[in-house]
Amino acid sequence: MTPQTRTSLKELQELDHEIAQVRSTLQDFEHLLEEVDAPVIRSEQDVKGLQSRLQEIKLVESRLELTIEERRIRTKKVQERMEGVRTVREEAAVQAELEMVRRALENDEKEALSLLDQILRIEERLSEQEAAYEEALVEIEPRRVELTQERQGAEDRLEKLEGERGAFAEGIDPKERQIYESIMAGSGGVAVSELTQDGACGNCFSLVPLQVQNEIRHGSMMIRCEGCGVILTPESAEGIARAEAENMRILDALRITEAEREMERAVIAETIATEEAEESLVVEAGEAMKAMPTEEEPESEVASESRSRAATLEADEDPSLSEASESVSSSDDEGMDEEATDV
Ligand SMILES: [Zn+2]
Repeated sequence: MTPQTRTSLKELQELDHEIAQVRSTLQDFEHLLEEVDAPVIRSEQDVKGLQSRLQEIKLVESRLELTIEERRIRTKKVQERMEGVRTVREEAAVQAELEMVRRALENDEKEALSLLDQILRIEERLSEQEAAYEEALVEIEPRRVELTQERQGAEDRLEKLEGERGAFAEGIDPKERQIYESIMAGSGGVAVSELTQDGACGNCFSLVPLQVQNEIRHGSMMIRCEGCGVILTPESAEGIARAEAENMRILDALRITEAEREMERAVIAETIATEEAEESLVVEAGEAMKAMPTEEEPESEVASESRSRAATLEADEDPSLSEASESVSSSDDEGMDEEATDV
């Protein structure tokens, strides 16, 4: 695998990530549109339900109308037969038939009236529902147009990206592309990953042996992470910059903690010094008290004593000071002498 292929695979992955993002955006649009459409769809279903119910009832009613028509004709015929009866028995039979036909006709006419009433009520409800549907349609229209336009934008972008991706993939070695595709299909959308600065896989962070790291950085083989299987590439300039920025941040944080610790240490040292000084003062005061049984102004006595002791200490500690002053004065004297002789 040449460095060129590595860069190409990485770019291919970037394109694939972009495509995946646009696809998920498109899905979001589908959900949004469904949400926007929901009330209209419900209203539409109500309208359709009423329409089919109306159709059924109208069919039943028209069949009933036919039956009624037949029964009327039959009634007429029976009435005509009544005119031609000769015997009482015959008359009674025709009369019975006529009664039966009339009763059936009456029932059918009642039923027809009830159906017509139902049809009327359903038609009223239907026109109400149709109005509600139109209203809902008008209400959602602006949002619908907006979303549809945005979705169209995303679709165009997807088409463009897929075109780019196709052309780009053509330029990559088919074998390596195949490996890339198979990793991509199996993993959660990562097939190529950079080494981290400390030599780990940038995807699963398992450590890569030094020799393998060198092979990745300088060799020509395609090397995959033993931990997660992604194709490993050397760290990019941006990757290094990112890691360095992160390191700087950590170092800064550490520096701040160190400074805080030093301040703490200084405070502790100061406290100890103060305590020691106070202790020695107390001891000295105790000694002075023993030496002065008269208790006449013990404090000033102690102060003056410690001052004189400090003076002796200074003189003892720095004998060079007095020597230096002696030598200065002696050289001055010599100079004076010389001047004196010149004159
Ligand atoms: Zn890995």
